[in-house]
Amino acid sequence: SASPLALLGLGDMGTALARAWLTAGHPLTVWNRTAAKAEPLVAEGARVAASAAEAVAAADLVVVCLLDDASVGEALAAAELTGKDVVNLTTGTPAQARERASWAGQRGARFLDGGIMAVPPMIGTPQAGGYIFYSGDHALFEQHRDTLAVPAATRYVGSDPGHAALHDVALLSAMTGMFAGITHAFALMRPEQEVKPTAFAPLLAEWLRAMLGMAESMAQQLESGDYAEGVTSNLAMMAAGNATLEATAEEQGVSGKLLDPFMASMRERVATGYGDEGLAGLVDMLRQR
Ligand code: NDP
Repeated sequence: SASPLALLGLGDMGTALARAWLTAGHPLTVWNRTAAKAEPLVAEGARVAASAAEAVAAADLVVVCLLDDASVGEALAAAELTGKDVVNLTTGTPAQARERASWAGQRGARFLDGGIMAVPPMIGTPQAGGYIFYSGDHALFEQHRDTLAVPAATRYVGSDPGHAALHDVALLSAMTGMFAGITHAFALMRPEQEVKPTAFAPLLAEWLRAMLGMAESMAQQLESGDYAEGVTSNLAMMAAGNATLEATAEEQGVSGKLLDPFMASMRERVATGYGDEGLAGLVDMLRQR
């Protein structure tokens, strides 16, 4: 039978998680700082705890999905965590996850950190492709993996509790750079009334998908240490091409501020003598320590 759990936090994400576990028949105790958010879930079978401490007392498995790390510390301050399995799905930095893990350990709990790679409508909808990174106590993960797999697929990325957050943030950072590029591209096309954004978007998506193989060739270079290995678009050529990107932005009346820092980094790498390589050397150049 489906095992019981407690869930702290009923924001947009917490509510989606709660519904997934309720739908799958898990006995669920919920708590939220603003109690009214729990009301609709009672009708769906949830038990409501009057305090976070009371919710924690109701189940061995405690899932936390609050705004940020500070709210986790605040909410769990008065809870008795001895013997509990705490799964923290609150977004935070890798260092916060590691500190939270030792904090939980000192209080007698096992700890697993999670990074949710999904938006609320993707929770409880496996075909939507969302998943959750987990890292930390492996025995905890194994013991509860069926329960944890209910809201979204699971990907365990190691015993270092910081690794789920690090994977999460690395992917979000890549996404942010991609969004910057998409934003710039739409800005370039904007004055052209005859090319509708809805006609341009499929071209953009197709091109970006075609370019993604670059991540794998870069990975191979980083592992071999030979940053010129298999390079078919060298940095010197790309840096020269950047002048055309900049001139076109100017012609179209578009600020280069989203792309300038990246293009300046490519130029810097060429200027220090690595024009025959690909982009992999920029990885080393970016690292400050
Ligand atoms: P919401 O803003 O919808 O909800 C925030 C929740 O945190 C509420 O339950 C709120 O309680 C609670 N909270 C805030 N401060 C405190 C505090 N000091 N003490 C106790 N409770 C507090 O956020 P989401 O539900 O969307 O997000 C929750 C977590 O999930 C975040 O870490 C977010 O980064 C992560 N996440 C969210 C995604 C999304 O698309 N929504 C995607 C991936 C991850 P109250 O109702 O009382 O304000």
